[in-house]
Amino acid sequence: MSRYRLLPTPAQEAVLRDHCGHARYVWNLAVEQHAQWRPGRTSAPGYREQCRQLTEARAEYPWLAAGSQTVQQQALRDFTQAMAAFFDPKNPAGRPSWRKAGRAEGFRIVGRGRQWDVRRLSRHVGQVWVPKAGWVRFRWSRAAPPGAKSYRVTMDRAGRWHIAFAVIPAPVPAPGNGQAVGVDRGVAVSAALSTGQMLHAPGLTRRERTRLRRLQRKLACAKRGSNRRGRVRHTIARLRARETDRRKDWAEKTSTDLARRFDLIRVEDLQITNMTRSAKGTRGDPGRNVRQKTGLNRGILGSGWGQLVRRLEDKAPGRVEKIRPAFTSQRCSACGHVDAKSRESQARFVCTACGFALHADVNAARNIAAGHAVTARGGDGVARPMNREPQLLLQTA
Ligand SMILES: [Zn+2]
Repeated sequence: MSRYRLLPTPAQEAVLRDHCGHARYVWNLAVEQHAQWRPGRTSAPGYREQCRQLTEARAEYPWLAAGSQTVQQQALRDFTQAMAAFFDPKNPAGRPSWRKAGRAEGFRIVGRGRQWDVRRLSRHVGQVWVPKAGWVRFRWSRAAPPGAKSYRVTMDRAGRWHIAFAVIPAPVPAPGNGQAVGVDRGVAVSAALSTGQMLHAPGLTRRERTRLRRLQRKLACAKRGSNRRGRVRHTIARLRARETDRRKDWAEKTSTDLARRFDLIRVEDLQITNMTRSAKGTRGDPGRNVRQKTGLNRGILGSGWGQLVRRLEDKAPGRVEKIRPAFTSQRCSACGHVDAKSRESQARFVCTACGFALHADVNAARNIAAGHAVTARGGDGVARPMNREPQLLLQTA
């Protein structure tokens, strides 16, 4: 996914905002229809039926009809795809849910050549064709991917517009060295490799965090609806957007690096949503680090783990194996002895049987590297290429 800063004129921005609003409206309508469906009733309407309903709605509501049919139909198609992903047992995608105004605003355009195109204007400026908005300029920060078939326009919480051209990343060729690596996700350390290397997903710097806390206090004091409050909110949103950008960048670089260096990449088969929702642990490993997890949920989400694994699966199809995480943190990677007491602290592992000592996360990563592949949902453990459209992952995330 290559993302560029979009630079619409004020008039174009109004059109883009309308597109976002329409896409959200249509999407939410589809969510509502599916939410009302219960077993025994006739099935919720499919894409074709929804398209017919959209035509009717456009005839009835002039504000909807004034918008782009391309944008609205695409929102329906995206929803259908998201539902299919949700029902696919191999896909971790959750159920498509409501979209709120001002959060994750965006729309998608497909059909290059017919609906859109992209061209370079000058050294640092490109242009992309957006239905009803015309040619919109964007910052040409690197070459636009030639194979892109679709794009997604988004507005982040800071009010910045971006365009992302969807290209399925070319798989990174395996190095052919027969090496497997285990990756353990941690909280303190974003990820530990069985090689001993520690990977840290960048967040905000100390200074930025201090500034964020100060702003949050300011926000709490500011009067609702005041100009001041709006300004503070905007600054907070910009800081958060910066954090997100850094993490995305980290996931991109790290996944490419791992795919290049190792033939086989083994990761824990934990569902990040399960892990973060409750501190009580997972099915396979009840109550692991309960204390550390409580209150550090944000840290786990912040480590960008989910993003990293998804990108790995895109770039190293068939070379990523998910390992049942049971006891990876309590098992000695030297002698195999399992004892909760071996984990001396969050960071230190000392085997109660053989005395082997290692960083606790690296010990876990070694167990993962040696692990037996399982697929939690009843598969046979053979990793297969995952041909998922990157933009779909973005939508459902
Ligand atoms: Zn041991």
